[in-house]
Amino acid sequence: MIEARARMRALHRAPEPEVLAALLPAALLGEEQRHSVVARARPLIAGLKAAASSGWVNRFLQHYQLGSDEGTALLSLAEAFLRVPDPVTADLLIRDKLGQADWKAKLGDSDSLLVNSATWGLVMGKAMLADPQAGVLKRLLSRTGEPFIRQAVAAAMRLMGEVFVMGRTIDEALGFADRQKGFTASFDMLGEAAHTFPDAMGYFDAYLGAIEAIGRKRGGRRGGGGGNDNISGRHSISVKLSALHPRYETAHASAAVPTLTELAMTLAQAAASAGIGLTIDAEESERLDMSLDIIGAVAAHPGLKGWDGLGMAVQAYGKRAPAVIDWAEALGAATGRCIAVRLVKGAYWDSEIKRTQALGLADYPLFTRKPATDVSWLACARAMLDSPHIYPAFATHNALTVATVLEWAGESRDFEFQRLHGMGEGLYEDLVRNQGHHCRIYAPVGGHRDLLAYLVRRLLENGANTSFVHQIADDDMPEEELLADPAARVARSGGLPHPAIPKPSAMYAHEAATGGRPNSPGIDLADAPTLDALAAAAATLVLPAAPAAVDVAAAVARAEAAAPGWAATPVEDRAARVEALGDALEADTPALIGLLVQEARKTLPDAVAEVREAIDFCRYYAAQARHLMQPMPLPGPTGESNCLMLAPRGPFATIAPWNFPLAIFLGQCAAALVTGNPVLAKPAPQTPRIAARAVALAHAAGIPADVLQLIPGGGAEGDALVRDGRVQGVAFTGSTATARAIARALLDDDARPLIPFIAETGGINAMIADSTALPEQVVADVIASAFQSAGQRCSALRLLLVQREVADSVITMLKGAMDALVVGPAGNPMTDVPPVIDAAAAAKLEAYRQSVKARWLHSIAAPEGDYVAPTLIAIDRVGDLKEEWFGPLLHVTTWEAGTLAETVQAVNALGYGLTMGLHSRIAGASDTVQALAQVGNLYVNRSIIGAVVGTQPFGGEARSGTGFKAGGPHYLLRFCTERTVTIDTTSAGGNASLLSLEEDA
Ligand SMILES: Cc1cc2nc3c(=O)[nH]c(=O)nc-3n(C[C@H](O)[C@H](O)[C@H](O)COP(=O)(O)OP(=O)(O)OC[C@H]3O[C@@H](n4cnc5c(N)ncnc54)[C@H](O)[C@@H]3O)c2cc1C
Repeated sequence: MIEARARMRALHRAPEPEVLAALLPAALLGEEQRHSVVARARPLIAGLKAAASSGWVNRFLQHYQLGSDEGTALLSLAEAFLRVPDPVTADLLIRDKLGQADWKAKLGDSDSLLVNSATWGLVMGKAMLADPQAGVLKRLLSRTGEPFIRQAVAAAMRLMGEVFVMGRTIDEALGFADRQKGFTASFDMLGEAAHTFPDAMGYFDAYLGAIEAIGRKRGGRRGGGGGNDNISGRHSISVKLSALHPRYETAHASAAVPTLTELAMTLAQAAASAGIGLTIDAEESERLDMSLDIIGAVAAHPGLKGWDGLGMAVQAYGKRAPAVIDWAEALGAATGRCIAVRLVKGAYWDSEIKRTQALGLADYPLFTRKPATDVSWLACARAMLDSPHIYPAFATHNALTVATVLEWAGESRDFEFQRLHGMGEGLYEDLVRNQGHHCRIYAPVGGHRDLLAYLVRRLLENGANTSFVHQIADDDMPEEELLADPAARVARSGGLPHPAIPKPSAMYAHEAATGGRPNSPGIDLADAPTLDALAAAAATLVLPAAPAAVDVAAAVARAEAAAPGWAATPVEDRAARVEALGDALEADTPALIGLLVQEARKTLPDAVAEVREAIDFCRYYAAQARHLMQPMPLPGPTGESNCLMLAPRGPFATIAPWNFPLAIFLGQCAAALVTGNPVLAKPAPQTPRIAARAVALAHAAGIPADVLQLIPGGGAEGDALVRDGRVQGVAFTGSTATARAIARALLDDDARPLIPFIAETGGINAMIADSTALPEQVVADVIASAFQSAGQRCSALRLLLVQREVADSVITMLKGAMDALVVGPAGNPMTDVPPVIDAAAAAKLEAYRQSVKARWLHSIAAPEGDYVAPTLIAIDRVGDLKEEWFGPLLHVTTWEAGTLAETVQAVNALGYGLTMGLHSRIAGASDTVQALAQVGNLYVNRSIIGAVVGTQPFGGEARSGTGFKAGGPHYLLRFCTERTVTIDTTSAGGNASLLSLEEDA
């Protein structure tokens, strides 16, 4: 088992061709075998096709391709509609989704009556919405009107959900399952990724109740399977661990894994007593290690001896899959039991790819081409058939995959197939009823509220072009294509990754604004050994002495003297040195993280993100300067050359805040330096050591000492800097009040030229959520936006505006999610909310918090020290919040359906304009907010923090800043002056170029 775990680590992000080369031999078929597999697959395809033609959801999804406007509209309608409680928003949602697409063009295209009738419904619905005043239809339906459409859409969406759910209750589902003659079921109590402890407990109770109900029922086919026939012949249960704990995350493993082990053990004991099997589902790849720890502990429990019902799912799309199979075999051997392994391809492919890119990790944990996943699945299947301590459960809707297993298994019946309820119908009927095979149906149970995440995965699977069930419903797809050998495809391509899915490091290789640059590397904090090592290194770092004060006037003199030489240094040279600084930061990452944790009280994830941002700034601005600072020839009359050039301004003062003491500090410096300006860089008084280290790295990277000088100190040093008439520009990030003071100081000296002042200040950032938003997503994004970094980001959420109809449920979930937060020391991997920057900040925030105690909706405990307890504070209306409170204090109020525009205007009226968030499934709502919101950064359906260089250029307007945005294509312009040169080329004697024109050019 230890060996298998080590192999898992080695495979996790290994190069795709390497992993596939090891798998390919097991998946390759000889010519004869290949013929036999194809022959076996043809009748299976026929069975699937026959059933698919009567399955209206499949036809519907075939008809409305997911990539089309109609497909997207349907998907979002299905995902959101049933949770909207109020008619005003429900109608807006329908109008939005029906209005987006061209349903009429699709009318009559399908040979399915149901698809066409549904399309008719959509066409009529759209017509009525578009022209509510006219038409026979309108008169006909005038008494029912929009409520009629609402009911019809609700019925259609409910129907779509019901296709994939076996019952609302376990008893209903058991009744249905018993009618599927020859099949058994594995029930899953819908609900995943609990956000609160009460939700998790609710799901646990549901699982326990279901196990007891299944045990009582004694249902399912009896006595037809193989090795652990006692279990395989009966209905079983499938459990998602993420439903049982709100913090099922690596960083919280020390608390979550023991708790989950205990809960899983209790469920396993109940399943053993009921004589049924229990399978742990496979979820996101970062949870795999924890799930194996839990499964391993349950399997080893002496109280479960003699029960062969423990099962686990393995995702073949993961590069670690073959090692996980080995691990399961070793576990079975070590604990003297047969482990039921359900082999799936995997349901989270798109979100895994996105997560890996967002975190900048070294490589993907899964394959990037569909045939590669097929090959992996087949190789794993073969290994499972040869593993004596594994009871194989082959879960697929792919006829070719099934046929290959049948070919390899020969006469054996010592395994089972599995399919999902609502999918793969027709595939297994003959095998089960006439050939003695066993098939289990995965059977979700639950109401519509819990269905949505599952439903979206199923709709995506049914609608994806690469998916077998989607291809089979396509009448134009040739059967030979369906039967194409994945192993041969992989062999032909050499197992190379998909060209459209670059490694995270190459995500910006073709960035238009810069001509390409490498992405900063992330650190995989979901890998426990990596996280532990980082935490240990950060904790043991000894803080160096703070840098000594300098004579500001003398420093400015040195900068002034260095200015001409630096300006004359070619931009290519300057850019290379700034890029070398980026590389130096990358190499120094562990030490910088230690400093960020200890001096700036950053949590580990925040510290990693900050180092990445600093690296990105260096590379982005360097690449940009190379383009921007080239002379630009301009058109004009013949005999004259015209050219526009950017030139440096001279010594720049940069004044950075403590909340991004590395990224903002260096971002300002890098921009000024690469454009040719010497820099006098003043860090915040709270964080001089990080700045000193960054400056030392910059000097080592080739930036001359007089060109970049550190000016440690506080307000006095800052004031001396900005008042020095030799300073030619100021870049500042900090409070609005200080920005004003600097602006005034710059104007005090009448003899001084007006110089650029770039100010990034704070904001009263709001997030608006309507009743179409997914509450779980809203809550997760609110928690991150308001409480991550103890709310000490300029972009942090200060004001949550929830539509009244859903306010109670969203706020209840939010309180539960707050209760699951850990407030603690910055370097502790478990910490979500660290202390605020210093005692003075803590005292100010605490005084305010106490002053509004009567309005607290919720608050959680915080340790002694400079901690501020995350607190939810009610206000009556938007305008009641007058000030930015730079800590984990979130204000909440409600808004009425139909008043989105007024709500945005009320936020605008606060006078700030930094970030805003919207959570809504209505595209029109997003349009409204985009049109009205006066903010620099608007985020829709995500958190409002974490702007990425070159992706979300960051900065506000109004009282939130001057622009241009940091990390954007225009920022460098503010550090330059523009010059044109016009040369009369004829003055030296005639217009030679004109006179030399070719006759027939
Ligand atoms: C009984 C049962 C239980 C299940 N339990 C789980 C579970 O616990 N955890 C889980 O994650 N899933 C689970 N699933 C869902 C399962 O992952 C999907 O149904 C399955 O991937 C579909 O595979 P297929 O062989 O039916 O279809 P196919 O069409 O042959 O394969 C589709 C699959 O290929 C993979 N794929 C698609 N595009 C690419 C690409 N570009 N590169 C690499 N791979 C790609 C994806 O995994 C996709 O789902 C379960 C399915 C069943 C039937």
